[in-house]
Amino acid sequence: MTDPERFRTALAALDLPADWRVDVTIRPRRRRPAIEIKPGGAVVVLIPPMADPKQVARFVSSHRRWIAEKVDIAARLAPEHAVKEFVDGEEFELLGHRYRLQFVATPVGVEQLPAITSKGVLYARKQRPELVRRAVIGLYREVGLEWLRCEGRQYEVQGRIAGLTYAVRDLGRRRWGIYEGPPKHTTTLHWAAFGLPMRFIEYVLVHEQAHATQPGGSPHGRAWQRQMYLWMPDWRQRQTELADVGRHCWLGDHWPSTPLVSRQP
Ligand SMILES: [Zn+2]
Repeated sequence: MTDPERFRTALAALDLPADWRVDVTIRPRRRRPAIEIKPGGAVVVLIPPMADPKQVARFVSSHRRWIAEKVDIAARLAPEHAVKEFVDGEEFELLGHRYRLQFVATPVGVEQLPAITSKGVLYARKQRPELVRRAVIGLYREVGLEWLRCEGRQYEVQGRIAGLTYAVRDLGRRRWGIYEGPPKHTTTLHWAAFGLPMRFIEYVLVHEQAHATQPGGSPHGRAWQRQMYLWMPDWRQRQTELADVGRHCWLGDHWPSTPLVSRQP
């Protein structure tokens, strides 16, 4: 019986982009390897039973560009990301808590707007949706960065990471986090990641911190994986779940201020 793990190991050594969900499946009737892109962007490598792992890895490597294009299309089509309306009572997730949006004309009992309260209210100034969106994202960035600096610290100590900096910004629609090596040496999280359940925010942080322990190392190679298992034994489980949960996360989309109504003739 051919062991798929040998092929997984060979593929892991390729340092494929972190957001590619690549798996292998042995196909007894196949004569040559092939690649299949699933709806949603999962990549499945179909492998003939007698194939050589190195050969399969070379095959996948030579199809990087093709895979990137197809994954992009599949990912763009499949997700059902939340779309906000910015109306009173609308719910927002931030660092594992749920807040109801409440518009106010002037700050009431809070220093500035927007603001979140321990009672689960997100106060914001009533203005055009584009501006409310910008303000709310600004809040995510601010609250997120504070959390990041605080939570990231323990991994700096344990992983002997020196001089690491942090950032929160928009990373587009396919990435939750990124570690950039020296001279930047920065762990960055997508502001939208802070709208995910805590276990996934933690996963994204640990993923990037593990990169920061070995800036020059192979991105998702053995050393990186060892660090992940050490810090987060269930990281693979979280990674898999995130691929699904993340599809529904709010990435900043909102309905336009002018309603999309077809004009009467
Ligand atoms: Zn990574």
